Amino acid sequence: MGMEIQDGRKQLMEEAKNFVNTKVGGRPLRYFMRGTVGHGEDVAFWLDTWLLDEPLKTAFPDLISKEADKRVSVADRFISQSSDGRYSWSWNSDLSDSILRSRLEQLIGLLDSVILATGKARWKWTSALDGSFSVKAVKKLLNGDQVQEKCFVLDWCNWIPAKVNIHVWRLEMNKVLTAEALRKRNVGIRDTTCPLCHSEDESADHLFIGCFIASTVWSGVSSWCNIPNIFALSIRDLLSFYKDLGLSEKKRDAVQGIIMITCWSVWRARNNVKFSNSSVRIESIISEIKTLSFLWFSNRSRYKGLDWKD
Ligand SMILES: [Zn+2]
Repeated sequence: MGMEIQDGRKQLMEEAKNFVNTKVGGRPLRYFMRGTVGHGEDVAFWLDTWLLDEPLKTAFPDLISKEADKRVSVADRFISQSSDGRYSWSWNSDLSDSILRSRLEQLIGLLDSVILATGKARWKWTSALDGSFSVKAVKKLLNGDQVQEKCFVLDWCNWIPAKVNIHVWRLEMNKVLTAEALRKRNVGIRDTTCPLCHSEDESADHLFIGCFIASTVWSGVSSWCNIPNIFALSIRDLLSFYKDLGLSEKKRDAVQGIIMITCWSVWRARNNVKFSNSSVRIESIISEIKTLSFLWFSNRSRYKGLDWKD
């Protein structure tokens, strides 16, 4: 029990083979084998778990969809530690979309904390304190999962695009990479303050709820929708807010989506400030929310052909 594994994923997989089809929290067990990257030649950039507590392919699904070589190694994506422009990318189409560009900048922000070393990667079992694999460690992980399993199921909103639904779903799981979410993944970052208000640390609860920019946006959205002021204690609370207002079915559908769109727009505004150094304008966030909501609701919902007054 507890045999020390120095290196070699194969050896570790051999140890774990009775569990390879097991999933924990919907994640395959191999995600819990984490590599310290070494020279990076034997670590798959997108597919292995090495930088965050999940593979980059799941943290950045929008980027890997543009990746020309999905099995590329970490070493192949790093040119040299010393030069500027140290990453070597190969995309199968232009990253012309501003969201994708900001996602890439976010990824680069993470990569900047990496220092490649010499030697092969070393693989560890993340659930055990000493990083060694044992049946006991697997059982602990599986049992712990049953206790901690969160039962939140996102109510998919049909009239807004999948990417907006997925954004709030990731948000609820604290997988949207705010400064606090990065810190929890042991990524050291220099500036942890909220890019919108610069007065508090950036966490999901702060950025989307507590921040005075966000709360001003919420009060603008609430009065636009003619509903009580949207107020929540947690992200989960926020995403369920529409349920308890006693609204008609049509309005309920609309408010559910508008809350999601607001989260999406606040995140976009945050990225624009953080990555393009533009200043934040509350009125433009609110007007983007109104425009997107009207556009999508009138074209994509089952209540098509709405006019602006509705
Ligand atoms: Zn703030």
